[in-house]
Amino acid sequence: MRQLVQKLGRLNIVILITIFSVLVSVLLTFIVFYLRQDYTNLYVSISIAIIVPLIVAPLASWPLATMLMKIDGLEKEMRELATYDSLTGLLNRRAFFHNANKFIYFAEREQMPFSVIALDLDKFKNINDSYGHSAGDEVLKHFGKAVNAVIRKGDLIGRIGGEEFALLLPNASENVAIVFSERLHSIVRESTINHDQSLIKYSISMGLVSLLPNKTDNIESILKKADKSLYLAKEKGKNCTVVFNADKAN
Ligand code: GH3
Ligand code: MG
Ligand code: MG
Repeated sequence: MRQLVQKLGRLNIVILITIFSVLVSVLLTFIVFYLRQDYTNLYVSISIAIIVPLIVAPLASWPLATMLMKIDGLEKEMRELATYDSLTGLLNRRAFFHNANKFIYFAEREQMPFSVIALDLDKFKNINDSYGHSAGDEVLKHFGKAVNAVIRKGDLIGRIGGEEFALLLPNASENVAIVFSERLHSIVRESTINHDQSLIKYSISMGLVSLLPNKTDNIESILKKADKSLYLAKEKGKNCTVVFNADKAN
């Protein structure tokens, strides 16, 4: 229904309904005439049968078409709400996990390497406490734009928690992912956010895992590894990236 409404547009829906109702009423007029075989008032009934739908059909179909378009708009809005985080415009947690797992299934079949990064804003509570919650929101929005500016087509980025994000970089070896993470660090370090006459600086920490997936891998298990490295990055003093090392982690 949605695709049909989108394809036709409101004016075409009205025209189609009008043509349809004219055809139905002409058909009905001839059926009545055929059954009654009565010539009295034939022209009057034919005229009414044609004129009435010409007036009534557009009047009736316009609100119907408007309603269909509104439903279409609401459906689109609901789909966007279910997929994107409203503050940053990035994928929300559910959509990120869903898309990432779809990709991992494909990557396992194709034996394609990729990297996953768990990312967390540093001392974010301090930003909220010092400058206010709306300043914190500005920082999150700023980060959303910064990360969008460095990712490639096909990379996945999601906001998976308050100030926690996850990235999936298809076809990115460990070295490529490290270069990517350093670029993101430097963009964030060089940024200053002007909020209510306060100049806010922030930094991020990342945990990075690069792998060639096997059948048992999924985004949940891979992010657990990335989170371990993220934890180490925080312990190291934040504002840095730690690469997952299976030997050290176990
Ligand atoms: P660390 O460097 O160890 O990561 O410390 P942190 O302060 O960043 O982490 P912590 O988990 O202590 O605090 C995260 C804060 O993020 C707490 C919460 O109120 C805030 N937060 C979560 N979601 C939002 C949001 O949508 N907007 C704002 N402004 N703050 C948020
Ligand atoms: Mg944090
Ligand atoms: Mg956190």
